[in-house]
Amino acid sequence: MKAAVSYEIKAPMRVEEVTLDAPRDHEVLVKMVAAGTCHSDLHFLNGDIPVAMPVVMGHEGAGIVEKVGPGVATLKPGDHVVLMVAFSCGKCFYCAEGRPTLCVENLPIQIMGSLPGGGIRLHKGGQDLHHLFGLACFAEYAVVHERSVVKIREDAPLDVACLLGCGTSTGIGAVLNTAGVKAGQSVAVYGCGGVGLSAVMAAKLAGAGLIMAVDTLEPKLEMAKALGADYVVNASKENPQQKAMELTAGMGLDHAVPCVGNADVIMQAFGSIRSGGKCIVVGLPPIGVNLSIAPYELLQAKVLTGTTQGDITASVDIPRYVDLFMNGKLALDKLITKSCRLDEINEAYAALQRGETIRTVIRF
Ligand SMILES: [Zn+2]
Ligand SMILES: [Zn+2]
Repeated sequence: MKAAVSYEIKAPMRVEEVTLDAPRDHEVLVKMVAAGTCHSDLHFLNGDIPVAMPVVMGHEGAGIVEKVGPGVATLKPGDHVVLMVAFSCGKCFYCAEGRPTLCVENLPIQIMGSLPGGGIRLHKGGQDLHHLFGLACFAEYAVVHERSVVKIREDAPLDVACLLGCGTSTGIGAVLNTAGVKAGQSVAVYGCGGVGLSAVMAAKLAGAGLIMAVDTLEPKLEMAKALGADYVVNASKENPQQKAMELTAGMGLDHAVPCVGNADVIMQAFGSIRSGGKCIVVGLPPIGVNLSIAPYELLQAKVLTGTTQGDITASVDIPRYVDLFMNGKLALDKLITKSCRLDEINEAYAALQRGETIRTVIRF
């Protein structure tokens, strides 16, 4: 089958023929239908976050189960599934506590670039290829653990549903689960890419009284406005922290969700919330970057926290988000600005890096 393989950082992926082993215990073979080009892959491509190489990236995908390995009880061939970036074992402290995105298995999978349990099923000649997040969806087929996928309704378009594997569920969950935005509350979303725009839509769904969206690119701000933002702030022209104070008569906002991996943006977002307000960090700055916060602000009961994939419980939340889309209440399809073939993947990432696209979806 064809896959996009990364052999080294700061170099284009190579779209080439590779081999994929059959699924083993509790694994399934998925024929990929669509995969989203999440911004996080750029961190790995640029070397900001280390990853085991060579690797097949792609961590938000959707497809159809073609074959199941021994012991798979939850899925059968023909099931439509979304591949989830955060694995949950179902057994550890965090899974038992009801916070499956914090599962202890997640970090080892990310560091080893393997399937849960350490397996590698992808090869090029005699060389093993790693599976980013245990998924590797930039390929025509993927072998993944059965708990890495969520079954969804068959009438949902997979090229839209694939976005729920990482970016969009992170933005939605950060607002609905982590922040727990209530009707009438105020929310600022910093960064209007796929994650931020999902957060804007979720804030609207939650009935937020004031939604302020911040970015430096006008087309993204226009999109935020179309999807539910009441106020948009171009941070290259206006100070968003000041704007937040103006809009709330000097009090500050109930919630801020920085979706940009930049320390200054996180501090600005934290500075725009009121005493007792919550700042939910979603964008990850490069490893080694630190924040500078005045402890006095913490004495004002301001909460600074973050989230992995919006604290979702995938098997419960993903089908709900799909229903919201199918019922016209969550315009996930608006986030798809382009689609392309697997061979065009390097151009898709170059356009994303230039800020020209929200999401390019690869159709197989
Ligand atoms: Zn992602
Ligand atoms: Zn677990």
